[in-house]
Amino acid sequence: SVEVKELSLYFDNNQVLERIGMSVPKHQVTSLIGPSGSGKSTLLSCFNRLNDLEPGCKVEGEVIIDGRNIYDRREDVARLRRQVGMVFQKPNPFPMSVYENLVYGLKIRGIKDRRQLDNAAEKALKDVALWDEVKDRLFDSALTLSGGQQQRLVIARAIALEPEILLLDEPTSALDPISTLTIEELINQLKSKFTVLIVTHNMQQAARVSDFTAFLHEGRLVEYSDTNRLFTRPRQEQTEEYITGRY
Ligand code: ATP
Ligand code: MG
Repeated sequence: SVEVKELSLYFDNNQVLERIGMSVPKHQVTSLIGPSGSGKSTLLSCFNRLNDLEPGCKVEGEVIIDGRNIYDRREDVARLRRQVGMVFQKPNPFPMSVYENLVYGLKIRGIKDRRQLDNAAEKALKDVALWDEVKDRLFDSALTLSGGQQQRLVIARAIALEPEILLLDEPTSALDPISTLTIEELINQLKSKFTVLIVTHNMQQAARVSDFTAFLHEGRLVEYSDTNRLFTRPRQEQTEEYITGRY
């Protein structure tokens, strides 16, 4: 599992995360839910140290992946980024072809063999159920794809690099209901290969896709338990208020 211990984060001395402790099981889907500004995206980005290099940002505590505290000053951040992939809320395909988006990271890693790159691209597109839609458009600009296709493409781009942990920040917030269902089905399949952490505003989505759910409020982890338990028998009043909409 991935262990978060006493994790606090400050931006310019404002405390945004307060002594978060959680154990994220491998090969499961864990959702982070909570009101806007509660710290979900910030906590998600702690799993690959996306913001601690920003000026004014200070992190205390530990995130332990495979026995290493990734906030240790000896941590190799480039290696960490290979191990932990991130997909941002807004689909951000590179302004290049669909194919080049998919093989970009692999090329940076020194893979040059055309067959190997082709196979990786095809496999990643099949994983996100996008192959049939784009197989004749591989060399078109990725920016010509629809929003839902772009969202699946950036997920494919992340999984082509075979990270161990996949971080998804609101992966469906910009999508129509059909594309949303496709992504949710995909997330359910992804956990056989990856440990998945997902931020979502959508509680039904958290209930559908995740094995474990963490409820954050004002930078604190109010409740963290298996999803079924959290939605049916929350232990904390704050959780209950939030999930019943009385918040
Ligand atoms: P939303 O649901 O609206 O996306 P969130 O739960 O993801 O909200 P965060 O984006 O993690 O919330 O923000 C938590 C708090 O940290 C907010 O008060 C926000 O203003 C602050 N914050 C986030 N990023 C920065 C930053 N780079 N610099 C300063 N403050 C920040
Ligand atoms: Mg957010």
